[in-house]
Amino acid sequence: MNRPGPAARLNELTLAHNIPAALTIELTRRCPLSCAHCYLPETRGRSAPAGGRELTAGQWKRILGQFARAGAIQLAFTGGEPLLRPDLEELCACASGLRFDVRVYSSGSGLDRSRAGALKSAGVSSFELSLYGRPVTHDAVTGRAGSFLAVMSAAKLLKKAGIAVAFKTPLMKGNVRDAAWLLALAKTHGCRIYFDPVISPANDGDRSNLRFRLSGRALSAAVRTIPSLLPRLPSQARKPAPSDFLCGAGRNVAAVDPYGNLSPCLQLPIKIGNLLRTPFTTLWRSSPRLRKWRELNIGDLPECGGCGLLPVCSRCPGISLLERGDVMSSNVPACHMAAIMAGGPALSEAGGCQSPFNVPRKASMRSVTACGGCAPSTSRKSALPR
Ligand code: SF4
Ligand code: SF4
Repeated sequence: MNRPGPAARLNELTLAHNIPAALTIELTRRCPLSCAHCYLPETRGRSAPAGGRELTAGQWKRILGQFARAGAIQLAFTGGEPLLRPDLEELCACASGLRFDVRVYSSGSGLDRSRAGALKSAGVSSFELSLYGRPVTHDAVTGRAGSFLAVMSAAKLLKKAGIAVAFKTPLMKGNVRDAAWLLALAKTHGCRIYFDPVISPANDGDRSNLRFRLSGRALSAAVRTIPSLLPRLPSQARKPAPSDFLCGAGRNVAAVDPYGNLSPCLQLPIKIGNLLRTPFTTLWRSSPRLRKWRELNIGDLPECGGCGLLPVCSRCPGISLLERGDVMSSNVPACHMAAIMAGGPALSEAGGCQSPFNVPRKASMRSVTACGGCAPSTSRKSALPR
């Protein structure tokens, strides 16, 4: 029998004790790019960037101290584009001084030699750079000519400075044909590359970016050609027990937006409270909404509880909330991916789970009302009171 490795054991330990091991900080919603699939309405011109209300470096430093005292281990700065914050290096230095493993998620736009060196001196361990395809594909997705050259230049500068680089690639209709080319490019540059076929609706509920999502059939065909597109399951993957947690959101991961609002995960922007008004530990230990969220288990899932694909499914409750207004529902990308992981073709495009393995429980959708602010709703806006 495979025994869990150190990373899996650390994951189990932090989950069991609600230790906020990995935190994501959105420093800004501003971005010089305008990526077609972006989930931030600000980058699509539907909402004014709220630059003036972003937390200051001093405010963030106080919050970083609270995270350190709560036992956090890993910190990722993201955006928008975090390089737009001139104090990024100062914040990274503060975080690494508190002994966090510090990571940055970026498009690479605006990075030069001097900033790459300063970020290395500030203790950044790794960068994840968004990369969408060949130059013409990448620039078409970002809406900015020259953005491919910018990301590749950033990758070289960061590597030269001694910072590890990985590429992140959402797989879409417009770039799936470039997947093999991207794999080879990443190999040439000595970088890892992660593909993700899940394009989620935007934070304001707009679903227009879903037109870029691969159909289940196209995803299935892509995986047949390039099997490494499939996510790897942990070697000790087992059938989840009814008492298992839904995921790490609000247990060992959490996220903060540029204005100090705490949520269980970047992908699950349910507002728990604001860190300018309430200390992190108070919210983490005592928030009634977080407590209710943590009470939900696999056994409470009305559609997935009886599904034979559960052991290979990486259903994200945040995507379920966006797709179907219910954190407890199945969702189309998860069902497709699970079917492919199980070695079958993708499921019907009809929506909801069409899996022949699935025997839905008779639980009512009302089970989700246990989750406070995540009550079932067809509109994400009403599902997520702010
Ligand atoms: S499954 Fe979704 S909500 Fe849960 S931790 Fe992962 S990304 Fe966050
Ligand atoms: S395959 Fe679909 S129904 Fe089955 S566990 Fe995953 S999301 Fe739920």
